[in-house]
Amino acid sequence: MVEDLDAILRAAHFAAEKHAGQRRKGKAGEPYINHLLEVAQLVSSALTEPDANLVIAALLHDTIEDAGVTKEELAERFSSDVASLVMEVTDDKSLPKPERKRLQVVNAPKKSVRAQFIKLADKISNMRSVLSSPPVHWDDERKQRYFEWAKEVVSRLSSPSPVLMAEFERTYKRFDELAAPR
Ligand code: ZN
Repeated sequence: MVEDLDAILRAAHFAAEKHAGQRRKGKAGEPYINHLLEVAQLVSSALTEPDANLVIAALLHDTIEDAGVTKEELAERFSSDVASLVMEVTDDKSLPKPERKRLQVVNAPKKSVRAQFIKLADKISNMRSVLSSPPVHWDDERKQRYFEWAKEVVSRLSSPSPVLMAEFERTYKRFDELAAPR
C-alpha cells in the first residue's frame, strides 16, 4: 500500500537523520544506517504476511537507545504500536553493560512474537559485522564470547521466525569456519 511505503521510507529517513554521524564499531566504520536497513530488510524478508509497523520498528529499533529519541516522539510521528515495539527491544542504558547483557538473556522469552523478529535480525546483523568488520581491539576470544552470548539470547526466544533462525545458524557457523585452524 502507498501509505505503508510512505511510512516505511519516512522511518528510514528519520532514522538516517537521528543516527547521522554515528558509525558502526567495526574497523570499516560503516554508517549506522547500514545496520538499520539490514535489520529492517531481514525482518521484512521473514514476514509471512505484511506488517509495515514491524518493518518501521526495525528501522527505528535503536533510536531510543542510541539517538535520544523518546517513546512519545515515536508514538506521535509513527504510532503507539511502533513505539511499543521499539521499547520492547530497548535496553535500559542506566544499567551497567554486563547487567544489560544478562537481562537480554533473561527477558528474551517474554518478548512479543513481533519483537522477537527484531531481536533475532539485530543479532544476525551484529554477528555479520563481527565477521566482516570486527572492532579493532577484539581478538578471536572476544568475538567468540559475543557469538555465544547472542546464541544464548536467541535460544531463549519462545517463537523465533524459522527463516531468521536458519539465517542465524548459517551466520553462527561462519564463525566456526573462520576460527577453524587452516
Ligand atoms: Zn541494532
